Amino acid sequence: ARSNKTVRDYIRTIPDFPHEGIMFRDVTTLFADPRGFRIAIDQLLHPYAGTDIDRIVGLEARGFILGGAIAHQLSVGFVPIRKKGKLPGKTLSQDYTLEYGEATMEIHDDAIQPGEKVLVVDDLLATGGTAEAGIKLLEKLGAEIVGCAFVIDLPDLGGRAKLEAMGVDIHALCA
Ligand code: IMP
Repeated sequence: ARSNKTVRDYIRTIPDFPHEGIMFRDVTTLFADPRGFRIAIDQLLHPYAGTDIDRIVGLEARGFILGGAIAHQLSVGFVPIRKKGKLPGKTLSQDYTLEYGEATMEIHDDAIQPGEKVLVVDDLLATGGTAEAGIKLLEKLGAEIVGCAFVIDLPDLGGRAKLEAMGVDIHALCA
């Protein structure tokens, strides 16, 4: 029989991870299900049908899994934005604030050419700090950001408002 499950139905919530009081959205159950993964990829791409996209940019680490599948589907290249110290070539770096402390994201400085149209992908938008750092790196390289696509948006944490204030178009599958 045909399944009526939605993307959200494949995601589980694990309480008190990684800290007490955090309700962690676990997308491994979505990725592990063949239908769940396929409908997530299809729905992430849906608003961009007919849009000119040169590259998919994935945010470490779950953005790599989604972004790789999307890049394959569109027959475009994939570019990773990684946590500091992982990329072997010459990089640009962008610091950002976490709930506790600071972190740094990096991109290879030759990964995107000025004017390239990119779609940014990650699993979840919370405070928006991670995506904001990625967008700043892409803007430094002269990319044109077509949009940011997430499986989950937690709008109460302010990420959507933060990215929209930067003029970035947000697409999310569930809250
Ligand atoms: P932000 O920078 O506060 O928007 O947090 C988003 C980043 O943290 C993304 O890269 C997510 O993968 C990760 N993240 C934060 N909360 C969760 C969660 O509940 N489940 C999965 N990933 C999360």
